[in-house]
Amino acid sequence: MRFNRFLSRTLHPEDRLRMSEAKGRPLRVVSGSWISDLVTLGKAILLCDHCAHKFNYKEAGYVVVRQVVPGYNYVISKCDGCKSNPVQCTLHQKRR
Ligand SMILES: [Zn+2]
Repeated sequence: MRFNRFLSRTLHPEDRLRMSEAKGRPLRVVSGSWISDLVTLGKAILLCDHCAHKFNYKEAGYVVVRQVVPGYNYVISKCDGCKSNPVQCTLHQKRR
């Protein structure tokens, strides 16, 4: 508790937000297994162009989100499949 109060005073709000982000795929987990875990949990999935064609989103009950931000069909992020550095990723979301 005391340590959290110390962190909240010393860290910049962007750093605190970054600390709350998910770490991503663990080192010893295969990317396909990680994606199927995300599908099971119903999480949003970000995939680069190289990984997106391997993911059958229709079979998994997902849709590709277009116009994430007005005028942009992509998100600049780390790919959930290959963990590559921030690249243009397609956002897949669970169908409602
Ligand atoms: Zn990728």
